[in-house]
Amino acid sequence: MDLAFTKEEQAFREEVRSFFRDNVPPDTRRKLVEGRHLSKDEMVTWWRILNKKGWGTSHWPTQYGGTGWTSVQHYIFNEELQSYPAPQPLAFGVSMVGPVIYTFGNEEQKKKYLPRIANVDDWWCQGFSEPGSGSDLASLKTKAERKGDKWIINGQKTWTTLAQHADMIFCLCRTDNNAKKQMGISFIVFSMKSKGVTVRPIQTIDGGVEVNEVFFDDVEVPYENLIGEENKGWDYAKFLLGNERTGIARVGVSKERLRRIRELAGRVESGGKPIIQDAAFREKLAACEIELKALELTQLRVVADEGKHGKGKPNPASSVLKIKGSEIQQTTTELLMEVIGPFAAPFDVHGDDGSNERPDRAELLQQPQGLDLRRLQRDPAQHHRQGGAGTLGVIPGRDEVASPESIATIGSMDPGLALRAPRDDEARQFRVRGTKEHGF
Ligand SMILES: Cc1cc2nc3c(=O)[nH]c(=O)nc-3n(C[C@H](O)[C@H](O)[C@H](O)COP(=O)(O)OP(=O)(O)OC[C@H]3O[C@@H](n4cnc5c(N)ncnc54)[C@H](O)[C@@H]3O)c2cc1C
Repeated sequence: MDLAFTKEEQAFREEVRSFFRDNVPPDTRRKLVEGRHLSKDEMVTWWRILNKKGWGTSHWPTQYGGTGWTSVQHYIFNEELQSYPAPQPLAFGVSMVGPVIYTFGNEEQKKKYLPRIANVDDWWCQGFSEPGSGSDLASLKTKAERKGDKWIINGQKTWTTLAQHADMIFCLCRTDNNAKKQMGISFIVFSMKSKGVTVRPIQTIDGGVEVNEVFFDDVEVPYENLIGEENKGWDYAKFLLGNERTGIARVGVSKERLRRIRELAGRVESGGKPIIQDAAFREKLAACEIELKALELTQLRVVADEGKHGKGKPNPASSVLKIKGSEIQQTTTELLMEVIGPFAAPFDVHGDDGSNERPDRAELLQQPQGLDLRRLQRDPAQHHRQGGAGTLGVIPGRDEVASPESIATIGSMDPGLALRAPRDDEARQFRVRGTKEHGF
């Protein structure tokens, strides 16, 4: 396999890179670098910039607004997008339901939905999983009964990502109870504003409210909102999930994360020397880099083989990309936490943007000289003055988690005070209490 990019491909990479440099709103980029939440407005603004350039639905067929790029160009585009970083196009619309509609939908549905997906006029969410039907998705129970020219939908979905923002849902519904379970499911789309739809947030262990429960009580949906054929929804769902997996290795994200870990590990000190000089840490970092390189090569092989598996049939190796990509992201998160120590203890408030909070408070480490975390814990007031708002500490003898403000006050009264970083459960309790008492 020849892994060298051609001159044209390199020029394309430059074009993409300079477009991102000139067009990603700086605040949006900075928030992504710092692992902070983007608002719905910030995401939509960027996607519309991308769509105006003609790159918002790059992998769609050209007659529906795609770019006609080669697989390698797509690969380069995604890598640049993830490592710049710029927000990824909204997967639910562009990568999931869009391809299902242009592949299996009728002409009217294509005309109605595709341009709105491209311009994010509608925010879509995915209604597949149910309580008791996750891995065993084909056992799903949400029922759609045909009554004249309508479907009447009843049931419950769960883990529905960002449903609180959504205008539309694509939903797997049971339409035949007597057939083999995979053969009695239909793919139906409808408005989240329909009467009878209720969205209830699920708070995840990190305090985030990205996922939701969605309830349907006698929701009336026009019959024409069925995509493709009745009872063929399982085939469309498999097609959709194959597309999801191919794009989800997130190699660019992990590359950028490793670059950042290296940079910070060269500056943050532990035991009087930069963490990067610690042999055990270097070994873990190197192992992760090797895994990522192997994933990248596997992804390139999948890219090179595209089209060999038949129309609409994903390469089976794409499942490996999803699993390995997620494991590597977990490892990079752990490495980053190791480098930034107590800065990883989050206390942020979750606004209504619904994003999960990441343990990346590394932006707090922007001082020119190296930081000794142990010294910093001994001198919290100084740390606070240096812009370390956000760090929690446990007050010795009281076993109580202190806010940044209290740390600053206590630290100024007793500069020799040794605070320890809170354990996860302590930080979480503090956040819950703080949210209730102070509304932050
Ligand atoms: C952050 C997040 C966002 C999500 N967003 C969405 C969304 O927008 N829309 C949507 O529809 N879904 C969404 N999901 C749901 C996701 O697709 C499901 O979580 C997934 O399908 C697994 O189902 P489950 O959580 O019910 O786990 P389960 O199916 O209960 O599995 C639990 C464990 O048992 C194992 N297991 C299950 N069956 C077997 C078996 N037969 N043999 C051996 N081991 C088994 C699994 O590997 C797993 O470790 C989201 C999930 C998460 C975590």
